[in-house]
Amino acid sequence: NKRIIFKDYVSGYPREEDMLVVSSDIELKVPAGSSAVLLKNLYLSCDPYMRGKMSKPVGKSYTEPFTPGSIITGYGVGKVVDSGHPNFQAGDLVWGVTGWEEYSVIQAPESLIKIKYTDVPLSYYTGILGMPGLTAYAGFHEICSPKKGETVYVSAASGAVGQLVGQFAKLMGCYVVGSAGSQEKVDLLKSKFGYDNAFNYKEEQDLNAALKRYFPDGIDIYFENVGGAMLDAVLLNMRVYGRIAACGMISQYNLAEKEGVRNLFSVVVKRIRIQGFIEPDYKHSYPQFLELAIQYIREGKLVYVEDVAESLEKAPSALIGLFSGRNVGKQVVLVARE
Ligand code: NDP
Repeated sequence: NKRIIFKDYVSGYPREEDMLVVSSDIELKVPAGSSAVLLKNLYLSCDPYMRGKMSKPVGKSYTEPFTPGSIITGYGVGKVVDSGHPNFQAGDLVWGVTGWEEYSVIQAPESLIKIKYTDVPLSYYTGILGMPGLTAYAGFHEICSPKKGETVYVSAASGAVGQLVGQFAKLMGCYVVGSAGSQEKVDLLKSKFGYDNAFNYKEEQDLNAALKRYFPDGIDIYFENVGGAMLDAVLLNMRVYGRIAACGMISQYNLAEKEGVRNLFSVVVKRIRIQGFIEPDYKHSYPQFLELAIQYIREGKLVYVEDVAESLEKAPSALIGLFSGRNVGKQVVLVARE
């Protein structure tokens, strides 16, 4: 059983060497009398929140840190090989939190969700039909209170979450502009995800001026994935009664000293509402979201781009690639085919 071990707490940017590939034997059945499930992992998800789990814990967070010397865990898709739990049988396809390894024993399988629809790529359950999908949907519809015709700006717009926010905003009849870190991503935003416009933030000397160019009348809704200087520039361009959904601030995750925000007074002047949110708070909406998303996918109203690393050994490199923008679309790791 090949596995990826978390070596030790990380400060600054994570490196491949912070994770180790090791091998160990595993019996391919669950112990008699246990209610665990043995999973063959098929796809693993690389997500920015995993960086937070690599830091030495200071204070309370909404997610537990990884333990040095222990296996990396994260969302994935797997096939049940053996089960001691009455709700699961060999052959079931599931998604949920699993180990970064070929086979995982899941001690509390109640947290796994059985996969109902298999007419889409199974990897979608790490993305559009999984945690990032629900994040985009709940974040946009519940936090942003969008109305037809409003102007929407999305940062990290071509990623796992951003590509969906743009499409939800277009389905709602909004004007949507996204930013991303390469020409290839900017082209995708416009040609594949239906963004009205897009720009490469790395090529802009002055983010405030760039936003003024795309939003001469201001921004009603900002879907925040990036933080830092981007948030500061956005604050100067928000409209009165604008809404900011604070989904993530990836530009800050690897900094020892987080950047300050200078333009916060705009919140008062423009009566802006900024609200943070986390996906686990919206789990109850998942069944309803799944039905809607699968229908949209079948009708061609939602599309999804993935970046697939082709083996478990490539998982560490795929994960750290999120922090330099190497991924084009949702970063997935293929561990095994069904
Ligand atoms: P992505 O697929 O978008 O991958 C991360 C992307 O972030 C990179 O490809 C890169 O794109 C961009 N990025 C990396 N470093 C920087 C930087 N310093 N400045 C600007 N952009 C940077 O990831 P997700 O879609 O999964 O996540 C997007 C955001 O949503 C993250 O902040 C994440 O933490 C957050 N999130 C929050 C959740 C919640 O429950 N609140 C749940 C899921 C995600 P580029 O080339 O464009 O720079």
